[in-house]
Amino acid sequence: MQYRNGAVAAFILLALTGLAFLSLYLLSPPAPVPATAPAAAFSAERAMQHVRQIAQEPHAMGTAAHAEVRGYLLRQMQALGLEPQVQEATVVNNRSGIATVGHVYNLVGRLKGTGAGGKAVLLVAHYDSQPNARGAGDDGAGVAAILETVRALKQAEPLAHDVVVLLSDGEEYGLYGAKAFLGHPWANEVGLVLNLEARGNTGPSMTFELSPQNGWVARQYVQEAPYPFVSSLAYEIYRRMPNDTDFTVFKDAGYSGLNSAFIDGFVHYHRSTDSPENLNAGSLQQHGSNLLALARHFGNTSLSQTKAPDIVFFNLAGSWVVSYPKSLNILWVSLTSLLLLVTLVVGVQKQATSLRQVIIGFFVYLLMLAAVTALFIPVNNLVVGLMPTLRPAQGVHGVDMFFVAYLLLALGLFLLLTWLALRWLRLFSLLMGVFILCYALLLALVPAIFIMFPIVQVVFVAFGLSLPLGMVALLLLLAGLLLPLLVLVEQSFSWGRVPLLPLLLLLLGTAAVAFAIHREDPTPERPLRSHVSYFLNADTGQAVWASAYTTADEWNRQFFPASSVSPLKEVYPHARIVYLKNEAEQLNLAAPLAEVLQDTVAGNERVLRLRLRSQRQAAHLELVLRPTPAEALQSAAVGGKALDLEPIETDRGEVYFARLHGLPGSKAVELELRLTPGAPVELLLYDQSIGLPQQLVKQPRPSHVIAEHGRDSNLTVVRKRYTF
Ligand SMILES: [Zn+2]
Repeated sequence: MQYRNGAVAAFILLALTGLAFLSLYLLSPPAPVPATAPAAAFSAERAMQHVRQIAQEPHAMGTAAHAEVRGYLLRQMQALGLEPQVQEATVVNNRSGIATVGHVYNLVGRLKGTGAGGKAVLLVAHYDSQPNARGAGDDGAGVAAILETVRALKQAEPLAHDVVVLLSDGEEYGLYGAKAFLGHPWANEVGLVLNLEARGNTGPSMTFELSPQNGWVARQYVQEAPYPFVSSLAYEIYRRMPNDTDFTVFKDAGYSGLNSAFIDGFVHYHRSTDSPENLNAGSLQQHGSNLLALARHFGNTSLSQTKAPDIVFFNLAGSWVVSYPKSLNILWVSLTSLLLLVTLVVGVQKQATSLRQVIIGFFVYLLMLAAVTALFIPVNNLVVGLMPTLRPAQGVHGVDMFFVAYLLLALGLFLLLTWLALRWLRLFSLLMGVFILCYALLLALVPAIFIMFPIVQVVFVAFGLSLPLGMVALLLLLAGLLLPLLVLVEQSFSWGRVPLLPLLLLLLGTAAVAFAIHREDPTPERPLRSHVSYFLNADTGQAVWASAYTTADEWNRQFFPASSVSPLKEVYPHARIVYLKNEAEQLNLAAPLAEVLQDTVAGNERVLRLRLRSQRQAAHLELVLRPTPAEALQSAAVGGKALDLEPIETDRGEVYFARLHGLPGSKAVELELRLTPGAPVELLLYDQSIGLPQQLVKQPRPSHVIAEHGRDSNLTVVRKRYTF
């Protein structure tokens, strides 16, 4: 039986589209509050003044710009009466036998409360940026939100608890600042941690991470945050991912708390376009409105018991959050099971379907889901292939356009397959198949648009063109639930035996993809991200240009006229990672220095103390130690802190690796090695400064090209070999 009613179908189509976009719109960040707002309110416009100061230029740890930002923040904290202190510390991360050492300058301050000896609320954001990023969103917005929050807090009666402010350093290179703070005397007084982050520069501020046993914190958040955006599903997913922020350090140390970030605008993440002009003031407003409300609430609430069993929570529509104990899930499961069973029994009794048809329906739907999802592998490869300079993992500018395009394509394909399937199968049977699959995944019907569509979008924003399959599969689950409506629309719009709607969706989808690809062409607003660094071996005089991307782009092609693709053996003899390389002009750059302070043998131990420093003000040093034999190294320490080094097998035998981050100016560090006497040690010492040697850049970077992010991008590296 064909159902045809053009008007009803058109209405349904409009309503579904409208609801889908309404579900996203309701979650968009609030409007920024102007600077003229009452003093006790959080104003994004006021906070934005701090962002402009912080994000003038990249300010990675150890650079001059970093010291300037610190100076500015210190003055602001003083003006706010936080009596700030600079916590200078050396922190060692040991991971898989490689040690990385960070030299940090945390900014720590305190807003006194009325309660004596009670717990304190800790507000955290990091003030360092990635080497090639201006860091307006990540994490200038977080820092600015904290300063504006403290200013607003001071307008009212003091809170019961103290508020401790930590503007941490060295997050980007290894969470060094947060780790250093754990050794600060105030760390023991902290009862709750609120961390602010960003993985982009726009979109809603989502509280994506909560401390384990989240029942208490989650309830407080849902009740007190004016713009809550939270999901236990996201919490479960993030918990299993290797991503780290400062909050990880506090969570692992057993603290309770919340971590919030906005993640839209990923293409600007860790890049120079993460600038104040490009930052969404609404996202900053949401960051801050929530932070201020939560600081006020937790500041006046007992923090003696901050853990309770996990609960379930999610945004039902907009800021409306539903939360309930996990145990209620059993009730939902029972109810859904019952409903499903009743539908099935009634359907069979009324001869609308048969058990056999339902089973076929289930497998047909599963097959359709798998087929369309799998089809997006070649589709996406084709799309990515049409943009030769694009690295999908690095994000696209027009993520929304690609989202709409993929949405149309996926729906078109799905409806086309549905049209085919329904020639042999009854709609009711297919729908029962969908119900059973969704039942297995525990979903409900109409609220599904509001709950699921934003997740579909977030999944696409998070993974983009590097993994669009997740978004497609989720979308098809939603489309499956809406099948009766979609089929009605599809049948009403068919022309003879031709399914017009699916074909139209596919056509529109293809056009949208073409438009989206066209819009990725580099412009100053949507710049090309170019990857290249300069490496000099000061021992041999060999110099090399290298790019992590094995094809040159329109700008960095100047460095690769006779390129090859291989490891950087000229500079890193032990290296295995493959780069696009080209011989470069040798520059007379001062090599990093290793001076012997002590080289003595006492009993069965040789103590070798070295002073290491860059003569070029480079903030980062890299060490490759090769004692012969490798076991001759008994221990190593930097600045008195032990390094947990283990030999790593390379083409040149076993070597030890260590990296030092954030050495300001020409600061020296002391390396102490304890060795078996009589064993020679080779040290390959590298210093890394940010930026290319300008005298060798014949065509300067035009405005539509920026440095790609990453710690091996846009560097000048000089190596020197020493033997002791
Ligand atoms: Zn960050």
